[in-house]
Amino acid sequence: MTIRPLAVFDVPLRTSFRGQSRRDGMLVAGNAGIGEFSPFWDYGDKESAAWLRCAIEAADGDWPAPVRGEIPVNVTVPAVSAEEAHAIVQRGGGCRTAKVKVAAPGDGVGAEVARLEAVRDALGPGGRIRIDANGLWDVDEALRRLSRLDRAAGGLEYAEQPVMSIEDLGIVRRRQQVPIAADESIRRADDPLRVIRAEAADIAVVKVQPLGGVREALRIAERIEIPIVVSSALESSIGLRAGIALAAALPELPYACGLGTAMLLEQDVVDSPLVPSEGVMSVADALAVPLPELAFEPANEEITHRWLRRFDRVMSLLG
Ligand SMILES: [Mg+2]
Repeated sequence: MTIRPLAVFDVPLRTSFRGQSRRDGMLVAGNAGIGEFSPFWDYGDKESAAWLRCAIEAADGDWPAPVRGEIPVNVTVPAVSAEEAHAIVQRGGGCRTAKVKVAAPGDGVGAEVARLEAVRDALGPGGRIRIDANGLWDVDEALRRLSRLDRAAGGLEYAEQPVMSIEDLGIVRRRQQVPIAADESIRRADDPLRVIRAEAADIAVVKVQPLGGVREALRIAERIEIPIVVSSALESSIGLRAGIALAAALPELPYACGLGTAMLLEQDVVDSPLVPSEGVMSVADALAVPLPELAFEPANEEITHRWLRRFDRVMSLLG
């Protein structure tokens, strides 16, 4: 395992996400390629170690063989106005599934209903709509809103993390009809399988960086007995390759994945970003060697130093 920092990126987003208007991270180089190390800043060094193992695996070129050639993906609609939501779906790479963010600060039920109606209008009756509340509701709020939003959407495919704790997730799942997906309960848990044992979710959202890489995520996936949706952590097109490698290697892939998120970046780190066409990502294009040319302006000195220090600290934890 030899790995070295290659470049730090700090790129603008099209609309703000998790309260952020930019996405920063580090590209690392190894024996066989380039990986991305980009834990969000609310992840401590210990939690970030898994993210670094994912980058090292990518830079070592050590991914399992794909079993499929195309990955269907969703378009992501942030907590924006109904008009904007409609436009995002229309220019959404031909995706037939939309993931709509709800429960954002100041996001009332009226705005959420209008957003979902606009997304349904843009997708047409055959499209699928899922929502993501990032764990921000309590049980009562979730039960109230889910039935209302299910109607507004003309049927929800599932609701991602309507409440934060595994216990509450189980309660919401048992008390209403919309299927429940777990994201934070897997991504930030010491034990990613606890949510499965608690029968608190119908679908598992799996992200490669927080789980420690493609092979580790595949091992966890083998032990998860519910359908898996592979999603990004809003990586650049370099980091997205790891998610695509996982989605390509899973034995079953019944739902559209959340890997079309390069569409959310105003700028990317390569000259040809990995975005869907007709609603799918091509595995051959994503995993092609050599990689597309890196093309971006490096982050400023302060952000670069912050990442170099973080890389050293987290690297020392890997031993
Ligand atoms: Mg989520």
